[in-house]
Amino acid sequence: MTERKPMLSAAEALDFLLAAVEPIAQTQTLPTLEANGRVLAVAQTSQLNVPPMDNTQMDGYAVRAADCAGGNARLAVSQRIPAGHVGQALQPGTAARIFTGAMIPPGADAVVMQEQCELEKTAEGDIVTIRHAPKTGEWIRRTGEDIRAGSIILAAGTRLRAQELGLAASVGLAHLPVVRKPRVAVFFTGDELAMPGEPLKPGAIYNSNRFTLRGLLENLGCEITDYGIVPDSLQATRDTLRRAAADHDLIITSGGVSVGEEDYIKPAVEAEGRLNMWQIAIKPGKPLAFGQIDRTGQDGCAYFIGLPGNPVSSFVTFLLFVRPFILRLQGVADVAPRAFNLRADFAWAKADRRNEFLRAKINEQGGLDLFPNQGSAVLTSTVWGSGLIDNPPGQTIAQGDTVRFLPFSELLY
Ligand code: AMP
Ligand code: MG
Repeated sequence: MTERKPMLSAAEALDFLLAAVEPIAQTQTLPTLEANGRVLAVAQTSQLNVPPMDNTQMDGYAVRAADCAGGNARLAVSQRIPAGHVGQALQPGTAARIFTGAMIPPGADAVVMQEQCELEKTAEGDIVTIRHAPKTGEWIRRTGEDIRAGSIILAAGTRLRAQELGLAASVGLAHLPVVRKPRVAVFFTGDELAMPGEPLKPGAIYNSNRFTLRGLLENLGCEITDYGIVPDSLQATRDTLRRAAADHDLIITSGGVSVGEEDYIKPAVEAEGRLNMWQIAIKPGKPLAFGQIDRTGQDGCAYFIGLPGNPVSSFVTFLLFVRPFILRLQGVADVAPRAFNLRADFAWAKADRRNEFLRAKINEQGGLDLFPNQGSAVLTSTVWGSGLIDNPPGQTIAQGDTVRFLPFSELLY
């Protein structure tokens, strides 16, 4: 018997995949309002200070701190400055009534909140008693305190979430250059597959992976072409791969990637391109494949990732490998999900030779409960769970042990 080459670890496989990615070079300019979920192509610099002027953080009175040193100053109210209006220079010995967000008038150097002031109406006009000795700068938001003009506010490769869009808008950016959406083709191998809405013939199952994988791809902002169910035949698999390679960055398939006689993905990829990586020492998800499909009559090739058919396996391998791959394709530098060390409130005696990704849920005590059935076809575990425990090869878990937990919130987007 020949010695088998050891399978790649999850970390080795991910390194291999990420090293192979050439990020998409095409960019487009979008209105900032339409850029949610996209990846910034060019670093953005602020032309402005934010805030653009010194302004008050409180409703109250703008004063000269020196006029209020004793803590009982009586000052004539010389003007009223609502937000969005510009006041006059503040004369010594007077105060300006001022409202949150309004520009500090020249000459004033502090704001006293209205709760520390008493207003009197007199024949000569309003007089305010300031029952507080403010420090210079008190309750003033300084020009450029958030952002200095000329500074970089967002780096190239930043994923644009609601926060980033708000920040861009705060410096007046109406448009943003973003990376073109990844074009991803998907298809699903298996003669047993039927679509929801169709009756289930004997021996058939529903194509759940279509729904899971499309949902995941949508979350990552991909433009999806769905070739649907492809029969278990070498010719059909080759034809679909070739067609998909022409105008997609990445082709993702489900099923048919093991070593069974009805598994045509491997030979089809080898015939239409190259298989660069196959099988990873993880559970679920061992038969993951990565390669490239040539573009007939064109330069270049499309990336190929073959996911296992078992629904939990394809879900987990997507989260661990396809998600970072697609992010890197868009030029995102940091594609690693954050992991958390949490307490196992269960025991796991079945150490596996492979690195396992167990479906678990955070309980009300802040520990983890394990889904009782870790079968790779048990989709219920993915709905019940709040993430995956990354359990090293050969590791048993005792109640109370600390484990590495990857929440779905870190893996789905
Ligand atoms: P395969 O990787 O093709 O050997 O499939 C492994 C297992 O996953 C088999 O039980 C298949 O019936 C099942 N399976 C394959 N594709 C899908 C799919 N798209 N949706 C749900 N189950 C699938
Ligand atoms: Mg199959």
